[in-house]
Amino acid sequence: MRVGIVGAGIGGLAAAAAFAQGGADVAVYERAGFGPTGAGISLFGNGLRALDHIGVGHAVRALGPPPDLTAGIRTPGGGWLTRTPPSTTADLRVVHRGDLHAILAAAAPVVQTAAVTEVRTTEQRASVVLESGQRHDFDLVIGADGIGSRIRSTLFDDPGVRYAGYTAWRGVTTGPVDVPAAGETWGRGERFGIAPLGDGRVYWFAVAGAPPGWPVPDESTEVERRFATWHTPIPELLSTTDPKTILRNDILDLTRPLATFVRDRVALIGDAAHAMTPNLGQGGNLALEDAVTLARLVRDAASVRVALARYDALRRARTAPLARRSRQLGRIAQAHGLVGVAFRNTLVRLTPAGSAARAAERVQAWQPPEPLSVRR
Ligand SMILES: Cc1cc2nc3c(=O)[nH]c(=O)nc-3n(C[C@H](O)[C@H](O)[C@H](O)COP(=O)(O)OP(=O)(O)OC[C@H]3O[C@@H](n4cnc5c(N)ncnc54)[C@H](O)[C@@H]3O)c2cc1C
Repeated sequence: MRVGIVGAGIGGLAAAAAFAQGGADVAVYERAGFGPTGAGISLFGNGLRALDHIGVGHAVRALGPPPDLTAGIRTPGGGWLTRTPPSTTADLRVVHRGDLHAILAAAAPVVQTAAVTEVRTTEQRASVVLESGQRHDFDLVIGADGIGSRIRSTLFDDPGVRYAGYTAWRGVTTGPVDVPAAGETWGRGERFGIAPLGDGRVYWFAVAGAPPGWPVPDESTEVERRFATWHTPIPELLSTTDPKTILRNDILDLTRPLATFVRDRVALIGDAAHAMTPNLGQGGNLALEDAVTLARLVRDAASVRVALARYDALRRARTAPLARRSRQLGRIAQAHGLVGVAFRNTLVRLTPAGSAARAAERVQAWQPPEPLSVRR
């Protein structure tokens, strides 16, 4: 079984590790080479379980214990709108993306630095064409090429992406900062998130409604201008972050769910298949689930065709409702008008914390698919 993987982000590397462990001959192509991989990422029970299935869950958990803090949603003055029951975050790990990337890369075959310019497929095989003009044939090609997936736009009925109406900054403090509580703070059209890493440094994100591609002279000054008057320790988190390391992304998702994640011998995973807004913190977790699911099904099914059909059905059903919920949550969290904010805050205060927690726990309870009854 020869498998070609386009893209070495979280999804591509996890798929490479999972397929290699199943005995496949795997080639991974990444156009960018390896550089700094940005800020932090929240991994929930479902993502950690997927990591367990590729044998690296323990390495990720060893980066630090789950944050043992009160968490929930606050107002900019520091008052609580809601507190999250500890069961929701019991298995949470917030890790630096660079660390996750390094752990996944160590479990995956060597990644080739090469941009893929084209993917072709028939019912029997798929091939990738590299920038150099070289062509390589595979039994299966996995499109793990992210939100701007060229494979999605050339081989699938691509719905395209849309701007959610808000932009996000992310940073990690240069050293440990004492934080009394974690979670989000919701203002008017602005939000701030606090997520301590296992080593005491703190990953933070800041969100603001803005026109797409909105140019600011200096990202760090803009974040300070908006958030430095919010409750402690937000000012300290900003002042202990190296301004050069602050990332900013406009938030996008797919205009509508794809009608299929597979075509002949090509399967899409991760953001290429189901790019969603980050409000549920699930995009990377779901990319890990995709990788493990696909590798298992291909290993266990009577044929690649049967495995891909099952992958398509399972993963579209899993991801489409979460993309929708994530977008809805963003709309609520980004409320801007005085009346809308007052209504939202009352709603959050009155909603029993247990019901939101149970919904989150259901999402996090994911298990990889059972082997299909018909074996090769
Ligand atoms: C602000 C923000 C916060 C987030 N927070 C969280 C969180 O807390 N938890 C969570 O689970 N998710 C989170 N996400 C989502 C998460 O980052 C993504 O879902 C995840 O990184 C997707 O991984 P991927 O491997 O599918 O795609 P990517 O990470 O985008 O990787 C795609 C790779 O493919 C490569 N590539 C593209 N085209 C080609 C080509 N033609 N040839 C070769 N290589 C190519 C790219 O260079 C890239 O390395 C967040 C996202 C944002 C924007």
